[in-house]
Order: sequence, then C-alpha cells, then structure tokens
Amino acid sequence: MSEIMGLGIAGARELLAKGEATATDLVKAVAKRVAERNAEVGAYLTFDEEGALKLAAENPKAVPIAIKDLINVEGQPCTCGSKILEGYVSPYDATVVKNLKANGFIPCGRVNMDEFAMGSSTENSALGVTRNPYDLTRVPGGSSGGSAAAVGGNLCFAALGTDTGGSIRQPASFCNCVGVKPSYGRVSRYGVTAFASSLDQVGPMTKDVTDAAILLGALAGHDEMDGTTPEDPVPDYAAALEGASLKGVKLGLPKEYFEISGLDPEVRRITDEAVAKCQAAGAEIVPVSLPHTEYAMAVYYIIAPAEASANLARFDGVRYGHRSAQAKDVYSLYVKSRAEGFGPEVKRRIIMGTYVLSSGYYDAYYGRAQKVRTLVKRDFDEAFSKVDALLTPCAPTPAFRLGELQDPLTMYLNDLFTIPSSLAGVCAASVPAGFTRGTNLPVGVQFICGGFEESKLLRVCKAYEEVNS
Ligand code: GLN
Repeated sequence: MSEIMGLGIAGARELLAKGEATATDLVKAVAKRVAERNAEVGAYLTFDEEGALKLAAENPKAVPIAIKDLINVEGQPCTCGSKILEGYVSPYDATVVKNLKANGFIPCGRVNMDEFAMGSSTENSALGVTRNPYDLTRVPGGSSGGSAAAVGGNLCFAALGTDTGGSIRQPASFCNCVGVKPSYGRVSRYGVTAFASSLDQVGPMTKDVTDAAILLGALAGHDEMDGTTPEDPVPDYAAALEGASLKGVKLGLPKEYFEISGLDPEVRRITDEAVAKCQAAGAEIVPVSLPHTEYAMAVYYIIAPAEASANLARFDGVRYGHRSAQAKDVYSLYVKSRAEGFGPEVKRRIIMGTYVLSSGYYDAYYGRAQKVRTLVKRDFDEAFSKVDALLTPCAPTPAFRLGELQDPLTMYLNDLFTIPSSLAGVCAASVPAGFTRGTNLPVGVQFICGGFEESKLLRVCKAYEEVNS
C-alpha cells in the first residue's frame, strides 16, 4: 500500500476506476502513512480515520484530502492553529467542503498552519511544529505549511490551503508542490475562518498541475453565501490542459522582481533556467514593469492587519473557544481571554490593524493604502495588455531553518513576490522548478495570469511542468 501514497488525485482515481482500490483502501493507506511519518513531519494536527472511513463506505470512488485547520468541516476541530480555538468543533461544512464531498473527495484530517494564517513558516502555530519533509531541520513555509508538508511528504494525495498574501504558493515552493491561488472570488470563502476578507482565497495544493486543475474545478463556483463569487459557469480546468503548450505564449518578466536584493542566487539560477526552458519551448519572453511593486508590502501590512483586527474581534471569550478563568467582569473577560488565547504575531497584527483604522489615522493609512492598492492592480492590468502570463521567482529563498528568522520584518519579506498579485486579485501558481545545489532543497517558480484566467494559468503551468520534467 505504501507506493499508493506516491500518487496524486489522478493516480488514485485511476486505481479506483480500475477497481484496484476502494476509497476505504485509500483512507487506510493515508492512515498508515500518517502513523509512520506524522510524528516526524507534524503535518497533521488530527487525523479523522473513523469519519473518513464512514464517508469512504458511502462513496467508494472518493479520494481523501487533507484540510487546512481554518476550513470548517462539520464535526471536526477547527482551531486555526490557535489556542483560542482549542476544543472548538465545527457545526457545519464550509462551502468548499460541501463541494469536495459532492465531487468525490473526503476530508480526512486537519493540517497545521500559522495561527490564523499569519506567518510564512508555520512556526506561529500554537499547536505544534511542522517540519519540511525534504529537510527536517527546515520549515515547510507558511501559512499553509501543514498542507505543503503533507503533500510534499506523501502524507496525503492532495490538500487544501488558503492564500492571503502567499500562503499557498510559498509553502508549495518550499515543499515541491503545485499551489494555486485562485483569483479573488473564484472560490467561496463561506465557512473559511476570515483573516483578511478582501484577499483570502482557498486553493489546491497538489503533486502536479493536472491534480491542481481537477481540485480547483471541484472547489470553484458561485455560492450564494459569498457575494464575491460570480455566477458565471466554471470552465472545465482539467479539460483545458489538453494540448497545453508554450508555443507563442507571451511570458512577461517583471523587472522589479529580478532586481530585488536578497534574492538567493540558487533561486535566481533556477528561475533563469525556467525562463530559458520556456523560451526553448516556444514562449516569447517579454520584459515588463510593475512599477508599484515596491509599495505592495507596505500596503499589504496595512490592509491585511486592518481587516484581521475587525475579523478577529469575534474571538472574545463569549461565543467561541477559550474563556479566561481569571475574569472578574465583562471587560476583563474580553481582555484576559484574548491575552491568553492569541499568540504574539496575531496580537501584533491586531494592534497594527486597530491603529491604522483608528479615527484620525484612517485616511493617512488605510485610505491611502487602498489607493495605492489600485495602482498595484493597474500595473497588472497594464502588463496583461501586453503578455499572457508573468513568470517570477515564488519566494526569495528556499526553505530556511526552524528558528532562523526571528525578526518579524524579515519573515514578512518572504512574501515579496506573492503579495502584489494577491492585492491585485489575479490568479497565480507556484510550480516545482528544481533543487538547490548543495542543500538539495526544492524551489518553485511563480506564474501569474489575469483575474479569472485560471484556464490559461493552468495551461501555462502544465506546459512548463512538461518541459521541466
Ligand atoms: N505571510 C503572509 C502573512 O503573514 C501571508 C499569509 C497568508 O497568505 N495567509 O500575512
């Protein structure tokens, strides 16, 4: 059974179709692998074998999927990597989970993450350490580090992650997975614990591009519970991969992404090689400029904390999760429950967010950041009037060591290449590109396409995957 775990969704479905395995066999194979390897990797927080086996018996052709710990699955814990939600059990399924169940998937376990998805290494989880399966002394990236470690370490067939400023793409790059951040509105956020509501998206983290297309097709679409999801029909992403080619594709290289200091030389080399391979496969390489890139980071660290400070106000010790035993009155109940329940990074974001929204500062910070966000978005509109897709590094470095980045600002810089496309609301993906010399760590490259151009994005990714294999 162990070789089963090398498979992805398409491979697992092939076994099911041929009658060589049932969903029950797949769940058992995952359970066995988790029992053997999770103590070391720490990808899963909980594995619901009993629940998964029950669903497998009802749907013998389904494939188990690991779920990031902020997406609600009825009857399962949903702790968001936080002490404040310890013991909380979801009363309902998120729309993406309903969609998964309706499309032949089984949610089988909860995977670790930075607390409330704030972070780039999963070290902000209050619930345990997750290690990079390619080098256990290193981080898996974050915030969807548990998802990436589970996929990259063959502890699942595929996983769901979420991305607000890079949290699907950067860990995918660190753990040799494909990670797709869909366009804002492509996938419902109903039942997904909100971090920054104007940025959050759920997306697939998979072993290859074909699986990403299959899983995105299962997740995407209109949901009356999320007003940002348009009613247009969802294209058949898996079918769109047919005949994918780079011939004649105009690939833009944003100069600002290659001029940045702090770009690891091995990441640079692997990205340059990806460009050369695309060119050899017939892509036309076009230099482009995204002139507002240098402001994107500052804009994100105003808008995301602002929205987070509002979203996280609900965790007050009254309705959900941890309630302080030390409280004497309502005010101290709020203060003490939050002080005891939230970790330092979440507190930092709430304080920053509250500050930038406070009266007298709103226009100077939040209002201005929204204006600059529009300029960042216009850069992308302008670039996509000239090219089909952009090719960039995904993260400035390969996976770093656990404990290596102590200063929050250095940690924030991990998302330099992923934040601008999040602000613009366009779609983007990380695709495995190669391994560093010496340290032998995986590195992904990022492809970016315009809003709701996932078919085009996935075709480009698939064609690159083929020429890179
Ligand atoms: N690392 C970024 C942050 O800490 C992005 C996180 C995410 O995309 N959820 O905010």
